[in-house]
Amino acid sequence: MTEARRKRLEEVLSRRQPDLTVLLENVHKPHNLSAILRSCDAVGVLEAHAVNPTGGVPTFNETSGGSHKWVYLRVHPSIQEAYAHLRARGFRVYATALREDALDYRQVDYTRPTAILLGAEKWGVSEEALALADGAIRIPMLGMVQSLNVSVAAAVILFEAQRQRLQAGLYQEPRLEPELYQKVLEDWLRK
Ligand code: SAM
Repeated sequence: MTEARRKRLEEVLSRRQPDLTVLLENVHKPHNLSAILRSCDAVGVLEAHAVNPTGGVPTFNETSGGSHKWVYLRVHPSIQEAYAHLRARGFRVYATALREDALDYRQVDYTRPTAILLGAEKWGVSEEALALADGAIRIPMLGMVQSLNVSVAAAVILFEAQRQRLQAGLYQEPRLEPELYQKVLEDWLRK
């Protein structure tokens, strides 16, 4: 470990946003999961969340660019447990949905603790997960196709969150509590 490498890890860690995350419901395809984690890394998500009630262990592929090493992925046994975990930490959960009555994704204040719920490639977010959410958001679609690829939708929303957080100065000072910062740094140094 060179001094330059350590400095780079510290710089990246001091931009991590512990109060911004995604919750992936049955997002199975490795290329989608990997691409989402890559966007999470670029925006500064510390930990992403997933629930796979239909089973299976999340797997990644080369589209992650190795980002799964730097963005933790916490897998929950059910959507209810994922919500309980996030709510206990003060997160509001916004479900992505293709409904007409969903808010334009740019109307949300992402400087507050926010989790973005994304759904399965085929079925979208489940009715149950949508009902539990604090709100529904959509990316306006003005073309012929009904929806975006899930990893593209994740990136669009995450980069709006990044824009708002940059404007609010949330990347200027480390956001992690010193104890957690140290713990994560030690973990990253071992990678
Ligand atoms: N037929 C599915 C449906 O009705 O929800 C389409 C699922 S879409 C391919 C996969 C996921 O990408 C969605 O669950 C959502 O998380 C996200 N997504 C895709 N397009 C979106 C949009 N325009 N607005 C918000 N989320 C979108």
